[in-house]
Amino acid sequence: MPNDPAVPHRLLIGGAWQTAQGAPLARCDPATEESRPPVIAASPEQVARAVAAAQQSGWQASTPDRRLAALDRLVEAIGARAESFAQAISHEIGAPIDFARRGQVGAALDHLAAMRASFIAAPDDAPVAPDRPGDRVRYEPAGIAALITPWNWPLNQVVLKAGAALLAGCPMVLKPSELGTDTAMLFALCMEDAGLPDGAFNLLTGGAATGAALVADQRVEVISFTGSTRAGQAIAAAAAVGFRRTILEMGGKSPNLLFADCDLPTAIRQGLAHCFRNNGQSCNAAARMLVAREVYDDAVALAAALAADTPVGPPDLSGDHVGPQVSAAQFAHVQGLLGSGLAEGARLVAGGPGRAPGFARGFFTRPSVLADVTPQMRVFREEIFGPVLTMTPFDTEDEAVALANDTPYGLAGYIQTTDPVRADRVARSLRVGMVQVNGQSRVPGAPFGGVKASGTGREAGLWGIRAFQEIKSISGAQIPSLTS
Ligand code: NAD
Repeated sequence: MPNDPAVPHRLLIGGAWQTAQGAPLARCDPATEESRPPVIAASPEQVARAVAAAQQSGWQASTPDRRLAALDRLVEAIGARAESFAQAISHEIGAPIDFARRGQVGAALDHLAAMRASFIAAPDDAPVAPDRPGDRVRYEPAGIAALITPWNWPLNQVVLKAGAALLAGCPMVLKPSELGTDTAMLFALCMEDAGLPDGAFNLLTGGAATGAALVADQRVEVISFTGSTRAGQAIAAAAAVGFRRTILEMGGKSPNLLFADCDLPTAIRQGLAHCFRNNGQSCNAAARMLVAREVYDDAVALAAALAADTPVGPPDLSGDHVGPQVSAAQFAHVQGLLGSGLAEGARLVAGGPGRAPGFARGFFTRPSVLADVTPQMRVFREEIFGPVLTMTPFDTEDEAVALANDTPYGLAGYIQTTDPVRADRVARSLRVGMVQVNGQSRVPGAPFGGVKASGTGREAGLWGIRAFQEIKSISGAQIPSLTS
């Protein structure tokens, strides 16, 4: 076990902590730009050893009771380290500390609780038809799972995959983002406490090359990936060799439709908060606000005033504020898109290019609002992944829906209206995986995922567990518990 859980160059393979033997990957503190110890990537041999350890773990034959007991120990271990997780998340990705505690760690624990309830309620053997007691479906582990995760929700994205794989009976190899390594180290300590057999959970460090080596290993049978659409495409192509199962959770450019009958001040406040939350670095951020023309000018004025008042602060500051982008590359990406929006004719009503005032260092973006954004502009179509809201007017409901659906993505959609009939009609018309009406967030355990370039498959709840299982149809042999 590492002496210091924050030491970022240890791997867990077959139940033993090992020193990584691959290349160093530089990283720095997002708030100060000071160098941090590099993450050392796993070598290709270590990737292969981790897969072999998973293969030998025997976790696929574990009983449901054993899986449930392991999950309970995992939950306890995460709860006991909740503050360490919040500090690690805040430090390595720049999330404001209160949001890291409440939002990031809180969401992970909520998801595990919901998965537990789903697992108990839906056994792995189920009858198919009431009059055919000998016919059943059996959900079986899909095999060795590669879990590849991003940095922006570094505990929650890991938990959604590892919790589900554990309950499904899949041995796993986790390859987190190099920018989320400290959080993943802490998670690996919790998995040790969960008491799975050696090799049922393995941790590899590294970046894209390590992930690609893991996916290329043909002993890996199911690949659960969350990250950019670009990386998801590469993974889908690699997984096609051997027809291996993939669950892909990718980017988003989610629309927030404000109809004229909505409570405008509330909708603007909630919409801006949803866009700026986690420093604008959430896949399901409500990043594109589409507003009925009757209330468009008022909406722009309200959003501009609120954005101008949004505090920017370091990650360790309490309260709600916007912190830094995770890295120099991410800051440059946000700046580049802001600049392109202005060059293409968007109207800047709050914020703008450059580092937020008051900061000599750190990747602090100015909370920004671009109005009069049109579908031809890059800022309308591309994921900005920073605290930048775009606003576009519409004249009719049909136009609003067309605008909402007019990007390559299809992750989430948000609707603000006091008309329940319209809410239902528009919710059905959006080509997305998730819809929220009037700010009501999904209950933990509801399926999470998207369509089009946002992904395939679903995470969370029973959907998340089943994603790691194959369906076997058995006839002529009753479920043993029903015959005894
Ligand atoms: P990324 O695609 O750069 O990296 C994600 C993970 O994939 C990392 O672990 C990375 O090392 C690995 N990786 C990259 N290229 C790979 C390859 N060719 N083969 C195998 N592994 C590879 O994404 P990121 O910058 O870490 O995360 C931000 C992105 O994640 C955003 O686009 C965001 O929308 C998306 N995201 C989606 C969801 C969702 O549920 N839909 C949730 C969170 C984040």
